[in-house]
Amino acid sequence: ERQFQSYMDTKDSRNQFSRSLLRAIQEASPDGILVVDQHSQVISYNQRFLEVWQIEEQCRPDEQAMYQSLSEEPLLDSALRKLKNPDAFLQRIQELYNNPALHDHAEIELNDGRTLDRHSTGLFDDQNNYLGRVWFFRDITRQKLNEALLQDLAWRDPLTGTMTRGYFLERAEEELQRAQRYGHTLAVIMLDVDHFKEVNDRYGHYAGDRVLVILCQRWLETIRNNDLLGRIGGEEFTILLPQSDLQTALQTAERVRSITESQPVHSDGVAINCTVSGGVAMLDNNQNDSVKDALKRADNALYSAKKLGRNRVEQFSGIV
Ligand code: GH3
Ligand code: MG
Ligand code: MG
Repeated sequence: ERQFQSYMDTKDSRNQFSRSLLRAIQEASPDGILVVDQHSQVISYNQRFLEVWQIEEQCRPDEQAMYQSLSEEPLLDSALRKLKNPDAFLQRIQELYNNPALHDHAEIELNDGRTLDRHSTGLFDDQNNYLGRVWFFRDITRQKLNEALLQDLAWRDPLTGTMTRGYFLERAEEELQRAQRYGHTLAVIMLDVDHFKEVNDRYGHYAGDRVLVILCQRWLETIRNNDLLGRIGGEEFTILLPQSDLQTALQTAERVRSITESQPVHSDGVAINCTVSGGVAMLDNNQNDSVKDALKRADNALYSAKKLGRNRVEQFSGIV
């Protein structure tokens, strides 16, 4: 602590401390750092900057010439070649050079698939004279990938690629609100593959998985683009049909049933025949109906379809 105090005692030692601090920041920073003066000449950069941008040997400014104002051009050229959108980048840095007081942050995409986080701030002396600008570049590729993966896991069922239960319910709730606002009708179909346990028992779990994947592909081909297909449970799926009346929903469910039955799923050379049962219910757009209540009604109808022998579609009747 005494040592630290003494450093602040004289101007010389304060300057020494500042230089040491600057060096430590430059050398140990996880960011690539580039410093330019008010004429956009390069004043300094750190090793990490060269790494982050993968600046080629021939584009690197001479180390000896550091702090002697070098043209930014070779570095800029090298960087621009790596950018997905060099024009936007160039335009933005020009804006920043023209507006010294601006702080800025952006994520920039590189051609090699990486993402860099770019921060930038103006440099001013004690009298507020503009001295130049500092640029910070950080490789955030791994974070971006993790984010994308988590997002994907939240909405996409990993096996079938259909919506997860949670995401389906979220989207369905939005559709219900839209339907209630505009007075549209909205229908829901519950699907459950028949005797799926037997499929697993006879052909194995892997074949069972493949059946689910193929069936979902076929179903997606037969529903409209704005109908939502979600996986509610193991072999239980649900389709939400915005702006559909009962007739349309029954027809859609019938098409799904019939294409399921019409051709077997091939897995490892064996043909697996399967069928599906469906229950259809309407959402009430006048009252305080909820998606969950509608799904319960569709599930009731599905239960009837199962009881009546499977491979059929029933509509909710209120009588179970
Ligand atoms: P039902 O006609 O009454 O619907 O008969 P079921 O055999 O289909 O009904 P049940 O609900 O008893 O069995 C469903 C089976 O689905 C049990 C479970 O092992 C299987 N299952 C659930 N999820 C998966 C999955 O992701 N892959 C595979 N291969 N099987 C699954
Ligand atoms: Mg089931
Ligand atoms: Mg089943």
